[in-house]
Amino acid sequence: MNTTPSTTDPAAAPVRRKPTLRAVKVRSLEDIGPRMRRVTFFGESLEGFGPPKPGSHIKLFFGDLAPDWQPAPGQPRPLTRTYTPRYFDPVRRELVVDFVRHGEGVASEWVEHAQVGSALIVAGPGGGQVFPDDLRHLVLLADESALPAVGTILDNLPQTCLVTLFAEVESAADRYNPSLLASPDIRWLVRSPSRAAPGSLLLQAAHGLTLPAGAMGWVACEAGAMRAIKNVLLNQRDVDQAQLVTRGYWKAGESDHPDHDTGD
Ligand SMILES: Cc1cc2nc3c(=O)[nH]c(=O)nc-3n(C[C@H](O)[C@H](O)[C@H](O)COP(=O)(O)OP(=O)(O)OC[C@H]3O[C@@H](n4cnc5c(N)ncnc54)[C@H](O)[C@@H]3O)c2cc1C
Repeated sequence: MNTTPSTTDPAAAPVRRKPTLRAVKVRSLEDIGPRMRRVTFFGESLEGFGPPKPGSHIKLFFGDLAPDWQPAPGQPRPLTRTYTPRYFDPVRRELVVDFVRHGEGVASEWVEHAQVGSALIVAGPGGGQVFPDDLRHLVLLADESALPAVGTILDNLPQTCLVTLFAEVESAADRYNPSLLASPDIRWLVRSPSRAAPGSLLLQAAHGLTLPAGAMGWVACEAGAMRAIKNVLLNQRDVDQAQLVTRGYWKAGESDHPDHDTGD
């Protein structure tokens, strides 16, 4: 008897859960540097959100959407962008998101004009990275868009894990410790003095990196730079693919880069 499920068998189709859409409002705003604005959202709708895994992401829906907005066939999809749930407080129903103020773009422009009471719709969290409990050393290479994710990773690492963070930012004033729970060895790479292209200083750093046994690397930055860094680490620095996690967080010249770009 043939037990292979037929492709038309509805039971054989992968189940895609409909994401829960949560209407939230801005409770407070804080500039943690010239290019990074921290927004605390709140909403009763955050009941049941998370807990987000380290390095996980959410989708933010932009536009003039009713709090109970739901997608409907034939309706245009609103613009969405991918962000990191930096902190979530289930008791206060508060969600903190750190936005890079990079200029052009629906999200970056939204945060320029956001005020207490501004509304958005949030979906997620999804994805995320769980590192082995016995990890001895984590080396992170991140630009400012990935520093919120770095914060969530550092907050959740075992205290015995050594951390080295190469953090690329625009100016010296953009430096901040992404985690209050960890004291990483941070090597700041500042673009403005040499007008370096985004990701180029992380790439330079990658040329001098080694990852000993028991260490892992986590790279997240502009997608082209991530690919170049991945290539150097795997092909010139003898890093094993299994030791490396790579993510393109945005792409120069492109809007809404996908949230699952590993550079493969
Ligand atoms: C898993 C994941 C988590 C992320 N978490 C965060 C986060 O917590 N905080 C955060 O700020 N970003 C985060 N990002 C990056 C964010 O999704 C992108 O920067 C996004 O493109 C911003 O949308 P936008 O509407 O402002 O710009 P878009 O409309 O997407 O792009 C407009 C223009 O701006 C450029 N651009 C986009 N982002 C940047 C940037 N960071 N620096 C310089 N130029 C840029 C694009 O190349 C394009 O030319 C994350 C991305 C991923 C995949």
